[in-house]
Amino acid sequence: MLEKFERYPLTFGPTPIEKLSRLTEQLGGAVEIYAKREDCNSGLAFGGNKVRKLEYIVPDAIASNADTLVTIGGVQSNHTRQVAAVAAKLGMKCRLVQESWVPFEDAVYDRVGNILMSRVMGAQIDLVDEGFDIGIRESWQRAIEDVKRQGGKPYAIPAGASVHKLGGLGFVGFAEEVRAQEAELGFSFDYVIVCTVTGSTHAGMLVGFAKDGRADRVIGIDASGTVEQTRAQVLDIARNTAALVELGRDIVEDDLVLLSDYAYPAYGVPSAETNEAIRLSARLEGMMTDPVYEGKSMQGMIDLVRKDYFPAGSKVLYAHLGGVPAINGYSYIYRNG
Ligand SMILES: *Cc1c(COP(=O)(O)O)cnc(C)c1O
Repeated sequence: MLEKFERYPLTFGPTPIEKLSRLTEQLGGAVEIYAKREDCNSGLAFGGNKVRKLEYIVPDAIASNADTLVTIGGVQSNHTRQVAAVAAKLGMKCRLVQESWVPFEDAVYDRVGNILMSRVMGAQIDLVDEGFDIGIRESWQRAIEDVKRQGGKPYAIPAGASVHKLGGLGFVGFAEEVRAQEAELGFSFDYVIVCTVTGSTHAGMLVGFAKDGRADRVIGIDASGTVEQTRAQVLDIARNTAALVELGRDIVEDDLVLLSDYAYPAYGVPSAETNEAIRLSARLEGMMTDPVYEGKSMQGMIDLVRKDYFPAGSKVLYAHLGGVPAINGYSYIYRNG
């Protein structure tokens, strides 16, 4: 589906799929759980899902003759860290707007994890006191203008690399990759679990899996806490991406499964159940998840298995999208494990 699009390789190649045997057993064994490890997809500052998206955006940035990548996220944004790493790798400058999206207090929240790495990689960071919003932000537009004023040539990447004409392509590629891996494994997955916030990860998967009639087998776990805005944004990106790759059919509302039950109490703030899920997968599988995104999709998946949402015998693929560095900003919660 992606042959006509240029891709700039930033990842190691197809990401591994592994069975989570001990978690499967712990949850009764009737549903088999696997993980596809997007968290190990690249050597660029710990990688993650944004690197897969950026592979299709970077050729456009290079073609535009830009010298500075400009993007936006929260203080502990994984996305901005991945853009900083890609800019370093390309020999570009990087300007990051980091807003106060997360109502969470930790003494070193703006000193560790993602933002620490972005600083070390040479990004220029503007800390801005604005709340959470997945839409287009004025602070980001101001940063773009500022780069121009200083004689630079900015290339603008929106939050999560989502509302960008090429933002959905990377995860169309994810679906194609899963299909190839299924052929090798000799079975196919009945469900895919994905954490959804700015939307292009889920949207790309929708389009990619729509090709073989599985769009509604992608189970989105909302972590934004603003589920209606996220739902609309996923549908919008999916429709644009479907047209771009010439899917040959429309994306309809029923294709989108997005569960809002696990985002509480707020974006970026883990619940007791999120922390239980983080500890469970860490202790059973040595697989780390974070309190903002993957801990919530892990919580959702565990709860859905316990509630018999998946018929017995189902094979469920948990898309691990990365994000573990953010856990450093939550040191007090995990001070005793
Ligand atoms: C950005 C991110 C997500 C959400 O992906 P979107 O494309 O923004 O919906 C999920 N998990 C991690 C670790 C992320 O960094």
